[in-house]
Amino acid sequence: MLQIHRDHPLDRLTTFGLKSIAEAYAEAHDAEELREAFAAAKREGWRVHVIGGGSNTIAMPRVRGLVLRAAMTGCRIEPLSEGGARVEAGAGELLDRVVRLSVSSGFGGLENLAMIPGTVGGAVVQNVGAYGLELAERFERCRAYDPDSDEIRTLSLEECDFGYRHSVFKTPSAARLVVLSADLRLPGRWRPTAGYKDLAAQLSAERLAHPTPADVERVVRELRARKLPDPKQVGNAGSFFKNPVVNRVKANELLSKHPSLTAYPLAGGRVKLAAAWLIEAAGLKGLKLGRAAVYARHALILVNEGGADGEDVAALSRLIVDRVKERFGVTLEPEPVVMGESAGNIL
Ligand SMILES: Cc1cc2nc3c(=O)[nH]c(=O)nc-3n(C[C@H](O)[C@H](O)[C@H](O)COP(=O)(O)OP(=O)(O)OC[C@H]3O[C@@H](n4cnc5c(N)ncnc54)[C@H](O)[C@@H]3O)c2cc1C
Repeated sequence: MLQIHRDHPLDRLTTFGLKSIAEAYAEAHDAEELREAFAAAKREGWRVHVIGGGSNTIAMPRVRGLVLRAAMTGCRIEPLSEGGARVEAGAGELLDRVVRLSVSSGFGGLENLAMIPGTVGGAVVQNVGAYGLELAERFERCRAYDPDSDEIRTLSLEECDFGYRHSVFKTPSAARLVVLSADLRLPGRWRPTAGYKDLAAQLSAERLAHPTPADVERVVRELRARKLPDPKQVGNAGSFFKNPVVNRVKANELLSKHPSLTAYPLAGGRVKLAAAWLIEAAGLKGLKLGRAAVYARHALILVNEGGADGEDVAALSRLIVDRVKERFGVTLEPEPVVMGESAGNIL
């Protein structure tokens, strides 16, 4: 039976570890508890904020409404007669556990996503990606609870409409759906996804001409451990800003003034710029504001210096957006989702 806690601290429920109190908090372990939670929210007039691992979420000091943690766990790996396997994972299952389980069961396909914090549900909503692979490339379908119709729907790859850190769940048409579980398809003829520069360099330094999924997983873990702060030690939400996409004219204008700017051409003539380069070149790496800071070893990561709250992070985020806009005429967009007093993103 669903338990609802009033005035519940969220400090340990997001990887940023920001000081925050939710008006109400509950954990749903199955569709029935989700139903109960939405029924309670309707009775009380609460807005519902769904969270998974809280690794892409900024909690403001006071969160109005019900914070509902999707806690449907479980992961089943089913080998397929045509080769490869299907992974069925609960939305509340940790993505990293699914990666470990699939690789240790002998199936490659998810190893590039090793060590991304958070849950399978969060990974679907965000279409997580790392080292040249996005979740969408392994996604088959998901099941989601629709609180408006009180029905469970199945959404195909096409219906999820994945893009760069984007899915249909981030649009008004599906924002109220709660992902219950996802089916992922692991390929029969596995080949490493090793085009990403650091990964390719490390595999070649180790003379791994024919790496196994376990080799790739290990190297990804080593690279990430070197580069990224461990949220257990330093609160953070991973990359704080999306890499901005600009048209070719703007990219050429910037490249002529700043030849070292990191830029990747995209299909259709648009160009993706490295947000980390822009922040560092604007002189903001290591900058501290209140109890939040730009991580000294990686300009794209904002960190909790200890005792920070959402106001500290929001102020630092706004300052970075303003400075980068002034200096380069490019608008950075924060990646994390904000939970606060009101609806809408205030970062
Ligand atoms: C150290 C670090 C490294 C990271 N590295 C990467 C990386 O390499 N690549 C990358 O893409 N991301 C990365 N991230 C960001 C983050 O891990 C991902 O976005 C992750 O998928 C978020 O999952 P979560 O369960 O923590 O989501 P949460 O933060 O809990 O939620 C994020 C969003 O998903 C929604 N949501 C969560 N679960 C459900 C559900 N079941 N149904 C409906 N909506 C749901 C929430 O409402 C919210 O809108 C990193 C974060 C950290 C802290």
